[in-house]
Amino acid sequence: MSEIRQVTAESAALFERAKKVSPGGVHSPVRAFKGVGGTPRFIRSAEGVRLTDVDGNRYTDYCMSWGPMIFGHQDQEIAEAVRGALSRGWSYGTAEPYSLELAELITGALPWVEKIRFVNSGTEAVMAALRVARAATGRTKVLKFDGAYHGHLDQLLVRAGSGLAEMASPDSAGVAPSVAADTIVVPLDDWAAYEQALARHGHELAVVCFEAIPANNGLLLQRADFLPKAAAAARKAGALVLLDEVITGFRVAFGGVAEQSGVSPDLVTYGKIIGGGFPVGAYGGKRELMDLVAPQGPVYQAGTLSANPVAMTAGLATLKKLKRDNPYRKLEEKTESLARKFERVARDAGAEVSVQRHASMFWAVLGKIGTVDGVVRSTTQTPATQKERYAKLFHSLLAQGQYLAPSGFEVSFLSTAHQDSDLDALVAAFKGAL
Ligand SMILES: *Cc1c(COP(=O)(O)O)cnc(C)c1O
Repeated sequence: MSEIRQVTAESAALFERAKKVSPGGVHSPVRAFKGVGGTPRFIRSAEGVRLTDVDGNRYTDYCMSWGPMIFGHQDQEIAEAVRGALSRGWSYGTAEPYSLELAELITGALPWVEKIRFVNSGTEAVMAALRVARAATGRTKVLKFDGAYHGHLDQLLVRAGSGLAEMASPDSAGVAPSVAADTIVVPLDDWAAYEQALARHGHELAVVCFEAIPANNGLLLQRADFLPKAAAAARKAGALVLLDEVITGFRVAFGGVAEQSGVSPDLVTYGKIIGGGFPVGAYGGKRELMDLVAPQGPVYQAGTLSANPVAMTAGLATLKKLKRDNPYRKLEEKTESLARKFERVARDAGAEVSVQRHASMFWAVLGKIGTVDGVVRSTTQTPATQKERYAKLFHSLLAQGQYLAPSGFEVSFLSTAHQDSDLDALVAAFKGAL
């Protein structure tokens, strides 16, 4: 095991300074390492699969900016396109051809996206999609599943309440109970609860929100028939189907889970990969729904920096390369092989570790899984030991130059830039960590 004594003095000093000027020293919570403890590494630069921190430590990155960097950092083709875009100026606030090209690429490839609107984040995309759903149906309530994440919009920042089964309570201070009251929350992997919620609230539901594969509270793999069955039941109740593909879109397949499952959503949201690492989100769907959006229709939604030409160019370069290279099968094979090696090493060491994976996303489950088939499908099935054991594993790997997602409830990602030798080094580090 190649554990080195890392110097983290510079990161620690910057973290102290950052805490004085920003909440928790960061601009998005998980970056502060609260779930694993210790000093977050301040990354100075990234190239390929390597991160370099301000103290000069190098890490192999398996967080990949939480998903967008499917070709690794500073992919040459994308970098060239971005440099070209910079030379043309970086924000016009006008109609421009770059978003048109990206919109045509997506609508041409994905039949369920007849029209698309670009925004600046996944959260913004989901927020706008809900507004469209309410306008289209004339209904107010939305349904989400407990443990699914759709960004930090008030309406979906809710969890199952302690009282009435499907009534929601705010999952954050500052979310008005009156807003939470319009959201119905149902546990994952509980068909009876879903049916009951539809029976009770179906007539007032504008939309059922599906995180295409729940991947923000661990990787909660659903039963194969769940999504098609649940989408059909939602439609039967007169609700629209929103497929949130912010993490899975262009990641699990070019057409995301919609392509893999055959479920054609009414509304769909994208983010992460769609901007190639720049801040982009998008919502799209059926023509008659999207035509409700201003200036064509009465649903207001706008953005000063929306369809930023540099971000559009990065997204376009990324999606074109994905379409041309079709790396999905190879990525999945690499991920499967990595997961099998992890499990073998763990078995040899007598450790309770299983790896849940889908395409190039993976999540190490640490502890005894309570379900009959050993699959974690809802947050309540995650072993109680997860947080504590993951924190130890994370820090041991970090000390060996391996950077996984800094939380036991976040997934890690492979990119096309990860070589077999990188994965072998990760397995060796994992063995050392056990
Ligand atoms: C990341 C994510 C979001 C939020 O996107 P942001 O760009 O962070 O606002 C929404 N839904 C899903 C499924 C996500 O993975």
